[in-house]
Amino acid sequence: DRCWTADRLARRGLQHQPRCPLCDQAPETMRHLLLECPFARQTWHEILSWLWMTTAGPSHEDSLMDWWLQARQNTPTLMRKGLASIALLTPWMI
Ligand SMILES: [Zn+2]
Repeated sequence: DRCWTADRLARRGLQHQPRCPLCDQAPETMRHLLLECPFARQTWHEILSWLWMTTAGPSHEDSLMDWWLQARQNTPTLMRKGLASIALLTPWMI
């Protein structure tokens, strides 16, 4: 929760957008940006499909850590470094 999302800006009394700039459907929080936003969900799906990974992207019911730990268990050992990279780079790019 260190990123300057709208909810954090609001808590500090700073100017912020009322809704997510990617979907304009919900308040911008880290949870929304990484797990719930339709744009993020499509991004996860496209990246995992592109890499031929059979694991599903994180759902809005998970935390990112819960998803990563579960996905790691279900990923063959040779692909785990790739999964770790995706688990870090995808949120960064979103
Ligand atoms: Zn959104």
